[in-house]
Amino acid sequence: MRSALRYWNPEAETMPRERLRLLQLERLRDRLAWVYERVPFYRDQLDKAGLTPADVRSLPDLGKLPFTKKGDLRDNYPAGLFALPLTDCVRVHASSGTRGKPTMVGYTRSDLAAWSDVCARAIVSMGGQPGDVIQNAYGYGLFTGGLGFHQGAELMGCTVVPTSSGNTARQILMLQDLGARGLACTPSYALNLGDTMREAGIDPTSIQLRYGMFGAEPWTDELRTQIEQTIPGLKAYDIYGLSEIVGPGVSVECSERDGLHVQEDHFLVEIVDPESGLPRPYGSTGELVFTNLTKEALCLIRYRSGDICSLDDTPCPCGRTSVRMSKIKGRSDDMLIIRGVNVFPSEVEAALLAVPDVAPHYQLVISRQGALDEVEVQVEALADSADLSARLSRQLRDVLGLSCRVTVQPSKTIPRSEGKAIRVVDQRA
Ligand SMILES: [Zn+2]
Repeated sequence: MRSALRYWNPEAETMPRERLRLLQLERLRDRLAWVYERVPFYRDQLDKAGLTPADVRSLPDLGKLPFTKKGDLRDNYPAGLFALPLTDCVRVHASSGTRGKPTMVGYTRSDLAAWSDVCARAIVSMGGQPGDVIQNAYGYGLFTGGLGFHQGAELMGCTVVPTSSGNTARQILMLQDLGARGLACTPSYALNLGDTMREAGIDPTSIQLRYGMFGAEPWTDELRTQIEQTIPGLKAYDIYGLSEIVGPGVSVECSERDGLHVQEDHFLVEIVDPESGLPRPYGSTGELVFTNLTKEALCLIRYRSGDICSLDDTPCPCGRTSVRMSKIKGRSDDMLIIRGVNVFPSEVEAALLAVPDVAPHYQLVISRQGALDEVEVQVEALADSADLSARLSRQLRDVLGLSCRVTVQPSKTIPRSEGKAIRVVDQRA
């Protein structure tokens, strides 16, 4: 029997940190020169700051450079930030564009090769091996999730079942008939899939799933426990990415499940104060900022992700040497301010799911009555419990300082995820 792979790219994944830092600096200087030559936006930005690429002599010098924001991609839609003409790209993807124009991203052949490599690293990190059947229920199309995973799994010699998102009955049929060991989808959809299997009376032993590769939305350890109870035998892992930087595979959990390893040879990560933009040390909470170190087509410098978490560079028992991100607490623009209390939906999720008898489906409905914000937390009960809403209200007040009304809805009335879960309905104008 072939021995199991521990790493897909051992040289990159276990590189000593000093060598990694040198490689990052070399690549950073190279990419700065690349975009300064080719992207008018970056030339203007650096000129305005009175800098040239040669002024970056050490990694801390990165802090002198201006940020790139989501709005910059939209303002330069479709391809104004590309360093190469569209004809040199072999693929584009785009975000859904819920807030105006979509953001377009592009890849050369070499960009795709690097992306496939980091996705293969991620799959091995989550327990995947060449030869495994992997069912990929991320959406295929302009969204980066589907094709990103697909190419990584093919590269490492897995058998991909490209079911894409939705059509839960067919997903279950494929899981039973083809015996996938790995499942890739959003965590909320995994839960929906598991619930549906249970309700349909599917024999859990007819499903071979061993690892779940769940990302594209923030989720908590409490939800992890729920998913693992719903799909027996499956270990749930977190994978993170953003299409502006590459797509899925920017970082991923290892068997320790104690933070997500950032693929630092391709993506330079910083943590900054979301208000002031000033760099923060490892260990403190702030906004993730990424700089591409190897991209050709769309190479972003200091991109503000909007995602809030912390970084940890202490050694990991798995042997990977890269810095680890904590699970994402939320997005800076998803933070709810309710009567002066700052709260992320993920914190509400963690607080709710810590209470027995509550089902892992919930929605926050925020409205304004006169001058006051009102929050209704809608939940479903797992078992009859007369005081469930009182217990949940108390929990939210004690843990988050949030006073809100908790209502127990009839079973299966809160919308189930077909992809990304809708956790917040904000009715404030
Ligand atoms: Zn590790």
